Amino acid sequence: MAKKVKTDRREFVKYSTLGVLGLVLGGGIVFSPYLKGKENKLRPPGAVAEKDFLALCIKCGQCLQVCPYHSIKLNDIAKGYGEGTPYIDANVRACFACNAVPCVLACPSGALDHKTEKAEDIKMGIAVLEFPDTCLAVKKELVPKGYDNKMLAFTKSVRNETPEEVELLKKFSGFEDKPCSLCVDMCPIPNPLSAIAMVPSASGGRKPEIYDGCIGCGVCQDVCPTSKPSIVVKPRVTYEEYYNDKSYGKV
Ligand code: SF4
Ligand code: SF4
Ligand code: SF4
Repeated sequence: MAKKVKTDRREFVKYSTLGVLGLVLGGGIVFSPYLKGKENKLRPPGAVAEKDFLALCIKCGQCLQVCPYHSIKLNDIAKGYGEGTPYIDANVRACFACNAVPCVLACPSGALDHKTEKAEDIKMGIAVLEFPDTCLAVKKELVPKGYDNKMLAFTKSVRNETPEEVELLKKFSGFEDKPCSLCVDMCPIPNPLSAIAMVPSASGGRKPEIYDGCIGCGVCQDVCPTSKPSIVVKPRVTYEEYYNDKSYGKV
């Protein structure tokens, strides 16, 4: 059974998804020395440890080519780190957790571990209600008009939309003027309630709560209609580390 967690631990962990400067584990151990001072990105499903990933990835772009949601991008030279390696920007297009995980199957180098065979095997990170004060459900506000503009614009921009993207747009329609639970409604894994559910909040509204079934795909962050997503995914962080390790995030 999914473990109940407290989503308000965020005050103890003050790093952002895209700006983390070295993840710190209990006892002050640096989570990955290789990442210190580097941008910590969401890697595609099955990505091995970051240092190994950078060594193994041959930058062939096979994972990107088979992704039916156009979720994967290649890091550009301007970043100066992991140039040409694949990553996912959940603010633009998250991973929609295809059941057969074709990106992993396509990877010829071992950078994406073929042991990741289905959606539930994916472990990209963990979702966190980072900004509860902006969450529409906490504020008891309805989903605003134009909430789907970003997804519509992205799908239009790829020019060769796939059947999966057409289905996604259908699923993401019709939420306007309804109480917001988009992060829960759009969670793509086969058993979404093992990852996230709406629960009562102290404000008298509701809020999303994260459970250990979360795979860190970033869809909740992608679909959150607040101008800066209220919910974000911490790349390469596990449920246990974030929610159960009381020393996590303390230097
Ligand atoms: S699981 Fe599917 S949506 Fe996610 S990155 Fe792989 S191919 Fe793309
Ligand atoms: S809670 Fe968010 S990050 Fe976790 S599996 Fe669901 S959509 Fe993905
Ligand atoms: S999508 Fe989830 S986190 Fe974002 S405003 Fe709606 S209920 Fe809150």
